[in-house]
Amino acid sequence: MTMAERRAVVADLGEPPYRAVQLSRHFFGRFTEQADEMSDLPRASRDMLADALLPRLLTAERELSCDAGTTRKTLWRAFDGALVESVLMRYPDRVTMCVSSQAGCGMGCPFCATGQAGLTRNLSTGEIVAQVVAGAHLLAAGLVPGVAPRGRLGRASPRADIARISNVVFMGMGEPLANYASVLAAVRRLTDPVPEGLGISQRSVTVSTVGLVPAMARLAGEGLSVTLAVSLHAPDDELRDTLVPVNQRWKVDQVLAAAWDYAATTGRRVSIEYALIRDVNDQPWRADLLGSLLAGRLAHVNLIPLNPTPGSKWTASRPATQREFVRRLATAGVPVTVRDTRGREIDGACGQLAASARR
Ligand code: SAH
Ligand code: SF4
Repeated sequence: MTMAERRAVVADLGEPPYRAVQLSRHFFGRFTEQADEMSDLPRASRDMLADALLPRLLTAERELSCDAGTTRKTLWRAFDGALVESVLMRYPDRVTMCVSSQAGCGMGCPFCATGQAGLTRNLSTGEIVAQVVAGAHLLAAGLVPGVAPRGRLGRASPRADIARISNVVFMGMGEPLANYASVLAAVRRLTDPVPEGLGISQRSVTVSTVGLVPAMARLAGEGLSVTLAVSLHAPDDELRDTLVPVNQRWKVDQVLAAAWDYAATTGRRVSIEYALIRDVNDQPWRADLLGSLLAGRLAHVNLIPLNPTPGSKWTASRPATQREFVRRLATAGVPVTVRDTRGREIDGACGQLAASARR
């Protein structure tokens, strides 16, 4: 809800509308939904207001951590039993929260654990925001250790201090642009200033899409400056039709045209996601073709070493092949980075934990 909507609900409950601001400060500023922690609210109305406005939407079913506690994955159970995942990744200079926008996904990409299970349902705005608030709560409670930047002695020292969520990426389960209204409202709540929302910078929010062209155009018109990531995975339609089945509807040239329109409208560099799959999409000629499509554009390539899903016939590219792919893109003048592969041992890739819980 917007603040105006929260005020109206509080008024309907017979309480002064400013209680909506108090509740919002607890949730978006102190990351709590627990009535007994809201000592500025009269005892008589605390429980009633918290029940009405801050019902518990997600319950942690499993928590896994690795990378000395700096990567933390949570499997959530929603009110109806739907399972979704979120991942918190703490770095010396930032904390990124990776959230799910749907339980499952209907897009059917064959290399993706979420895609293999199909779509259960869309998440609500509240269920999306709750994943980020839960991460913020862990950080504020000092429960996520940090790693200080390397000092003069070159040693990284663990830090258990408090931090805030600086980045949110819609790269968990689901296709965010297939759940457009809820995702857009979630982006607004995440980026509205406290107490209206969480106060995260729009530029630090990334919406990743498989390439739903009409929705990409709509997002460009929202007046937001969020980063758009496009999961391309192949520069040619023949291969992309199989890796990303929705390509049969919107082709590579249409998806990229929508990406360049987004960049032109927002001034934001588009991130092109490319999961490197051994002997499938990692050939030198595909690197050159990708380079020629992206050269001179406001774009950046994020190569993702494939994280094989259980039973998959595919695996990540050989290191030398990956290096050559990077070299060819760089030669074409295209900015390129290889994504770090945190969380492999905790079923880090999209949908893997939920899949293992169902098994
Ligand atoms: N549905 C959206 C966002 C969620 S997926 C999308 O597809 O963009 C987030 C990213 O993880 C996408 O780029 C997706 O292609 C990638 N991904 C999915 N499964 C993967 C795997 N097994 N290994 C590496 N990347 C994967
Ligand atoms: Fe859905 Fe993205 Fe997985 Fe494709 S890669 S199935 S769009 S979550």
